[in-house]
Parts: sequence; C-alpha cells; structure tokens
Amino acid sequence: PNNNQNLSTFIKSGFYYFKGSNTVFIDPVRVLNQSYTQFTVTPSAYYSRFFEPNRRTDEHLIISEHKRKRKRKEKKVRELNEREQAADQRHQRVKPLLMKALECLLEADDLLLNLGKLRIDDCGTFEPKLTVESDEQSFVELGSVWQAPLFEISLHINQDHRLTQDCIFVQNCEKRNVPAFGCLVANDTNSDMEADFLNRRYVIPKQSSFYMSDLKQIHGLIPGKHECGFNLIVIDPPWENGSANQKLKYPTLPNRHFLSLPIQRLAHADGAVIALWVTNKEKLRIFVEKDLFPKWGVKYMATHYWLKVKADGSLISELDLFHHRPYECLILGYYYGKDEDSEHLSKLKSIPDCQVYISIPGDYSRKPPIGEILREYIPGLEPARCLELFARELLGGWTSWGNEPLRFQDSRYFTRK
Ligand code: SAM
Repeated sequence: PNNNQNLSTFIKSGFYYFKGSNTVFIDPVRVLNQSYTQFTVTPSAYYSRFFEPNRRTDEHLIISEHKRKRKRKEKKVRELNEREQAADQRHQRVKPLLMKALECLLEADDLLLNLGKLRIDDCGTFEPKLTVESDEQSFVELGSVWQAPLFEISLHINQDHRLTQDCIFVQNCEKRNVPAFGCLVANDTNSDMEADFLNRRYVIPKQSSFYMSDLKQIHGLIPGKHECGFNLIVIDPPWENGSANQKLKYPTLPNRHFLSLPIQRLAHADGAVIALWVTNKEKLRIFVEKDLFPKWGVKYMATHYWLKVKADGSLISELDLFHHRPYECLILGYYYGKDEDSEHLSKLKSIPDCQVYISIPGDYSRKPPIGEILREYIPGLEPARCLELFARELLGGWTSWGNEPLRFQDSRYFTRK
C-alpha cells in the first residue's frame, strides 16, 4: 500500500504499517477506542507526557547532544560488570534493528505530520494535563483490607426500548451489585456498561470482563474446563526494578512469585501464545529463559521491541543510555496445549522475530495494546479468548486480571460520544 493508504488505515485502526518493514507505529488511543461503543478514550488524558513542543531545530539538537555528552563525561564511567556487559552486547545486537525502525518513522512524512495531533481531543482542544484526583481509588489498598470481599460494584444494566422510528428511546437502567474483588465481573453485551464503585464511575467496554484480586487468589480465574482456557495471554509482571520512582507507582514482587502463575491451567487446550513484557536487565532475561518459560511449559518463539518516541518522532531518551533505554522487550512463546502435533498448530503461522512497535508512551508506563498485531499467530478457533495478567485496563474481547484492572477505566479518562 502507498503512504496514503497507510495513513487512512492508521486513522481508522491506530496501526501504521511501514511498507516492507517489520515495524508498526501504534496510536493506543485509536486502538483502545475499538473497544467502546458509547465512549472514546480522551487523547489528552492518555497522552499526558512526551508532548512538549517539538520545535527542536537541528541546532537545538546539536547543543543538547553536546551538553549530554559533557555530562556523561563528567560522570565517571564505571566499568560494567559481567551481566551488564552481556546486557550491553544484547543491546548492541538490536540497535541496528531499532535504528532502522526509527528511520522508517522519520521517513513517513504523512505520519509524522499527524503525530503532534494525536493528543488533540475531538473538540479540537487539549485539556491541561490530568492530575491524580484526591478521590481516585487505590484498588491495591482497598483489595488488601479484610473488608475487601464485602465491597460491591454496581453495574448499570441498560435496556433500551426503541419507541419510534426516529430512534427516540427510553433507557431503563437497572443496577446490579456484584462483589468487586475476587469475582469474575463480565459485560457480555455489545455495548459499554457503566459501573459505580464507592464514589467513582467506571466504564466497562463491550464483551470484556475482569477479575480483581491479589496473586494469592489467582486460582479463582482458572476456567473449569481446559476448553474454556485462553489462546492469548499477555503478561506484564510487576518486576522488581530497583528504581525508587518505579516503586511508588505499584507494588512489585520478587521473580520467584511468577513461577507460580498457573499458565498451563489458564491456557486453552488448543494451545496459547504467551506474550511476556520484560525489562532490559540481563538477570531477568536469563530467569525467563532458564526458569520461567520452562516452568510454565512455554516454548520460546521470538522477541519483539517497543520503541518509545516523543511527539516529534525523536526517541524519549538516548538509545545508548544504559539504565534508561528508550525501548522495552516483549518475549513471545507458545504453550502447546494437549497435543503438540495437532492440526491446529501445524497450520499456525510461526511468530516472526524482531518486530518493532513504535508509539508515544502514555503516562504511568502503560504498555501499548499489541493484541491485534499478534492475532494471526493465535492458535485455536476464532474469536480468540484473550487474557491480560497484571492488567490496569479492560479491552473488548478480553479478560483482565490484576490487583487494579479498573485503574484506567475511571470515567475521567473517557469522553461520552
Ligand atoms: N500492563 C500494565 C499497563 O500497561 O498499564 C502495567 C502492569 S504493571 C507493570 C504491574 C501491575 O501488577 C500493577 O498494576 C500492580 O499493582 C500489579 N500487582 C503488583 N503486585 C500484585 C499482586 N501481588 N497481585 C496482583 N497484581 C499485582
């Protein structure tokens, strides 16, 4: 397809595929909007960072690059230890791939012209950066108190009665209370549902469900039959990370806790694609390869990369900055299910290595929604059953589990259509 087609596909779907490349640019807002019927994700609320004015002239770039180099020199360079050296070698291997991906973006003038507009809300303005409201819920705290099993969420069950051909209808709203924690809450309808919890309103997209609990109660999510398991499982664990900043955002867990995730019991009998977000720490990469995937019964397939850019198309940090790489990695594997040689699997397309996703990050280190890109590799019948573990948002067609899956469903992130 020519560039025009790419752009019109992008405007509709949120994905811009660069011709002849393994790179795709993602606008998470557009992708997430596919999940909603009556609401849209407010762009200014999603993109609250990396939109500083992009009037960086070449001269400006050279000066800031010079300053950075000087700063780096001033900081006495410490010798890398063995693990850091291995991590650096890994980085050097993927660097050309990432630079090529960035080149694709910088050559796509039509897309670049649109990047700065991604944050503009429908009404043509963008609101000031959202600050955390004092009455915003901390699900992590609420879920950990002894009263947690008693908390209820009130779902608005709409029954629309069309009265005339002019589409005037009466909305009959019944409220149904269900436990908020330790219970699978589903919106099986084809339209969004609103829900009240304590003093806040949440939006539950069509065909989505969530299970809010601590890792200790994850067994409640295991389907009764293997045939009702999931064909795609995306996992973004709260890895320990050492950065104090990170620790403030959500609680983390030592690696060994993730060994107990019941992946085989959550996966579908026909098999599943497992997509695991990891940090760039070498110790973690070795843990996944040697301990975690073998314990889960998952066979390694490919590694994909998420490259983070600003609204002017430049990287959010220098590619070589050791502790703040402007990219993260997604490790993909297959869980083969009941029969490794089944017909289903032999027909499966194998997941290509080294795909690159580029996007402008949202706040709170939200990951871009990559489920759609992986769809063609998912085993089993359609529609695929998809699960996100340690989720902070809901998606149409997905089940979200974690100790705060409603985090980004607060109505303040949405605009009513
Ligand atoms: N993928 C998410 C996104 O893009 O917004 C981010 C997930 S974040 C890395 C990890 C999540 O795991 C946080 O929401 C955190 O609160 C949650 N978490 C931490 N400890 C947990 C536990 N013991 N049980 C369940 N969830 C936990």
